[in-house]
Amino acid sequence: MTVAVLPKDEHNGRLVANVHPPDWINPEPAPRYNLVVIGAGTAGLVTAAGAAGLGARVALIERELLGGDCLIVGCVPSKALIRTARAAAQVRDAAQFGIHIPPGVQVDFPAVMRRMRRLRAGISPHDSAARFRCLGVDVYLGQAVFTGADTVEVAGTTLRFRRAVIATGARAHRPPIPGLAEAGFLTNETVFALTELPQRLAVIGAGPIGCELAQAFARFGSRVHVLGNHPQVLPREDPDAAERIEKALRRDGVEFTLSCRIERVEKRGQEKVVYLTGGPGQQQVVVEEILIGAGRVPNVDDLNLDAVGVRHDQRDGVAVNDRLQTTNRNIYAAGDVCSRFKFTHAADAMARIVLQNALFKGRARASALTIPWCTYTDPEIAHVGLYENEARERGIAFRTFTQELHDVDRAVLDGEDEGFVKVLVTPRGDKILGATIVAAHAGDLVSELTLAMVGRLGLGTIARTIHPYPTQAEAIKKVGDAYNRSRLTPIVKWLFGKWLAWTR
Ligand SMILES: Cc1cc2nc3c(=O)[nH]c(=O)nc-3n(C[C@H](O)[C@H](O)[C@H](O)COP(=O)(O)OP(=O)(O)OC[C@H]3O[C@@H](n4cnc5c(N)ncnc54)[C@H](O)[C@@H]3O)c2cc1C
Repeated sequence: MTVAVLPKDEHNGRLVANVHPPDWINPEPAPRYNLVVIGAGTAGLVTAAGAAGLGARVALIERELLGGDCLIVGCVPSKALIRTARAAAQVRDAAQFGIHIPPGVQVDFPAVMRRMRRLRAGISPHDSAARFRCLGVDVYLGQAVFTGADTVEVAGTTLRFRRAVIATGARAHRPPIPGLAEAGFLTNETVFALTELPQRLAVIGAGPIGCELAQAFARFGSRVHVLGNHPQVLPREDPDAAERIEKALRRDGVEFTLSCRIERVEKRGQEKVVYLTGGPGQQQVVVEEILIGAGRVPNVDDLNLDAVGVRHDQRDGVAVNDRLQTTNRNIYAAGDVCSRFKFTHAADAMARIVLQNALFKGRARASALTIPWCTYTDPEIAHVGLYENEARERGIAFRTFTQELHDVDRAVLDGEDEGFVKVLVTPRGDKILGATIVAAHAGDLVSELTLAMVGRLGLGTIARTIHPYPTQAEAIKKVGDAYNRSRLTPIVKWLFGKWLAWTR
């Protein structure tokens, strides 16, 4: 099986040589494996490497490219483009720093994409078939299918297992919009193969993938129009935070039509016309390319899951219990195929749970994980724990402390003062229930609050922690200070006043 990654160039050649070597010969199977892992994305790779490191006999099966979505068509290429987009915006806005750049500076899109391909190929040895063979993993290239209670078939070879792990990930949802397939569209599986910048781009879906790529392409020079069916961009996020992100993207020239329904798409010569109903503003959007970012569908087909008693459906994927065990007690699942937390770090954390539970009869629980996440727009938006509306719906009482970045010196000096840190704590005490951050590096900042939640450290401890000046992380310290001030009730203040008067 040969897998082509487009365009064919030296970087993609290097990538494929690492993660799907054309001359790869599948190994002779062991009589029985402790673990057969299906899918070599983050969940599968972490499971396989961890199990082999612990001395287990492991087989890892991949039908396309090791590294999965994250390396090939997800985090890695998207963040490479976002970095260039940020550079482009900094050059565009250089005058505010007193730097005058001659007019006519342009983004060289083919060079941007070449850089991404070079960096992706440079990262790929880490996920390579050769590296995993060196780690002691039997790597099989081909489509995996369950053929019996303890057997999987790949490329005509039967592998016997004691335990198996389904880590087959997810793919882009293709909405059934009349005319869309005929007109042609991009998804995350094809957008990173572009070599020419689309002059006009419609992005269907205002979720994380849609917003990240919409902003990046707008900064490269495309005229971008985001079409969302919800009144809010990033519908899952804190409404105040999502509003800031929408404003930031609009400043970059992204147009939005929200609360709309896409009726059909029509191809007209080189153009594609998207017809909308509902939503304010125009009812037709004319573009050269359409990018779909409308959710993810778990990969559960073609595995013969019914035959081995693994319950699954097209929407939620493989059903698992809190120990990540499927309805077949010898088969576990991890990553996008079984989780609503479709993130690389969540796939990694689930893989570690599977290792303990599948190999050592452990009792590690997925519900015990504290999973933060971040959308890498500029500014970024990061979250951990409960949202305000979620807490209200669940009848959980809370107090909110918010620190705007325009009162944080470093954010002001960096010209990155558009954003805030919002922390939810218990009504009495300082236990952190959740946090949302909008900041240039929110994804980095959220780890401090995640650590505090995992380590059961409250806002009082954060207030006592010295943060270097000037840093943007001081925003979090200031939230701690605000909490401390809230403890200064009128009675405490009155008592302090009395004491100070008496000791004068
Ligand atoms: C554009 C984009 C940007 C993203 N950015 C981020 C980000 O910044 N941060 C973040 O945390 N997450 C991000 N994600 C999400 C992240 O990529 C996924 O959560 C992560 O890759 C999930 O890992 P996984 O192992 O569950 O699945 P995958 O990475 O999808 O791996 C599954 C593998 O299984 C293989 N497979 C499927 N069926 C079979 C079969 N029958 N036989 C053999 N092999 C099979 C597939 O080919 C694939 O290689 C992004 C996703 C996208 C699409």
